[in-house]
Amino acid sequence: MNSNPWRIRPLSDRFEIDPVSGLLNETDYKSSPFCDERPSGYRPELIVIHSISLPPGRFGGDLVTRLFTGTLQSDDASISPETAALRVSAHLFIDRTGAVIQYVPFHARAWHAGESRYRGRARCNDFSIGIEVEGTDFEPFDIAQYRTLASVIDALLRVYPSLSSKRIVGHCDIAPGRKTDPGPHFDWDLLRHELQHRRKQSEETI
Ligand SMILES: [Zn+2]
Repeated sequence: MNSNPWRIRPLSDRFEIDPVSGLLNETDYKSSPFCDERPSGYRPELIVIHSISLPPGRFGGDLVTRLFTGTLQSDDASISPETAALRVSAHLFIDRTGAVIQYVPFHARAWHAGESRYRGRARCNDFSIGIEVEGTDFEPFDIAQYRTLASVIDALLRVYPSLSSKRIVGHCDIAPGRKTDPGPHFDWDLLRHELQHRRKQSEETI
């Protein structure tokens, strides 16, 4: 069937990144205190996918944002004191609806990977971008989350040539034995499929 040019509209799910601020356009930005500068000469080379839910197994609410912005209350009954005391962050969080919140500019170092190693290189926070997807080890993720994730990764690949679609891993891959996220239900094939689709659209848009 011939496509009707009048039906072509700008991609609503196409993200842009301001290379100066390191922020996604049209995205909720809630600044995290849990970040610092990357070591001199380090650039983002690796994308690390995580999953998180707070309280564990429950979706929605603002507890993840409060964790990453240092505003969790330790007397909140649903949060353990250990969790409340964490000083962690991620660059992005994608909730179950596919909505994104950014906490750390991409050029800065978010504190998401902990003790970790990628192809012999330790301290993955130094050279990675951390993306948290709302979920657990026990259930599938939503297609909206894969679509947003693919769109965000497409934008990252366009702005940071030091990144590569071949260097996208799970937290479990860089901290084996210590971390299991994003878990066995994360569909890597689906992410790759969505990412290919987005990248093709981007090439056609240029
Ligand atoms: Zn993780």
